[in-house]
Amino acid sequence: MARKQTAGACTLCGAKFGKSGMTRHLEKCLAQHAVGKPAGGARPARFFHIVVDGRYAADYWLHLGVRSNAKLEDLDGFLRHIWLECCGHMSAFTIEGATYSSYPDDEFGDEGMDLKLANVPPGVPFFHEYDFGTTTHLRLRIVGEYDAPASKEHVTLLARNNPPEISCTCGKQAVWTCCECAYERSGWMCSECAAKHECGTDMLMPIVNSPRTGQCGYTGNEDHSKIYEELRSFGGDLDDDAPEDDDDLEDDADGEEDGV
Ligand SMILES: [Zn+2]
Ligand SMILES: [Zn+2]
Ligand SMILES: [Zn+2]
Ligand SMILES: [Zn+2]
Repeated sequence: MARKQTAGACTLCGAKFGKSGMTRHLEKCLAQHAVGKPAGGARPARFFHIVVDGRYAADYWLHLGVRSNAKLEDLDGFLRHIWLECCGHMSAFTIEGATYSSYPDDEFGDEGMDLKLANVPPGVPFFHEYDFGTTTHLRLRIVGEYDAPASKEHVTLLARNNPPEISCTCGKQAVWTCCECAYERSGWMCSECAAKHECGTDMLMPIVNSPRTGQCGYTGNEDHSKIYEELRSFGGDLDDDAPEDDDDLEDDADGEEDGV
């Protein structure tokens, strides 16, 4: 997969930067924008600025604002929603050698995920794994702190990478990957090449903006009906088992965030 370094936009001001440029930008931008006056004279809340990226797929990244009283389970829930959840697999954080699991197993001395972020050491990388079969590995780090009006949400998206450019062997943009051969360059395809793919169209999955793309059955929260239509127009023989785009989760809200 030929990839350029990914940039993304700051959700506070729209400025575009790469992953580490965004860390420096947000330090200033949060100081300017986030410190609003809380309504009713309430005291502002303390937030951590956390950078998350794919441990082995570093062009997928997020900058998050996380309440200091949020728990690991809140962060886990956010990561599942934006990047990971396919079939309710187990997940775990590893922080300074200790494991905090979604299903703690006493035999292994695992902790649960009720640790507060305020107890996670700043500046030190920690890790998250989702699914212990086809694992997606993430790396996280608290890079700063700021005060802002208390929000309902424990986790706020501050910035996210734009989708990496992945090209098909024919040169066009790839929009499909094959479960059987995602580990090969030729397993990433445009709709025209995907329609003729040797493993068959049943093996195809839409490429999504996540380090879990191509793994297990992960197809994200986006609406893929356009590329399904495109695949059919090239003669791709598809059952009508395209992901339902009418499930009434907050799919639209996600779509908008993606376009920021
Ligand atoms: Zn900004
Ligand atoms: Zn799965
Ligand atoms: Zn192609
Ligand atoms: Zn294949």
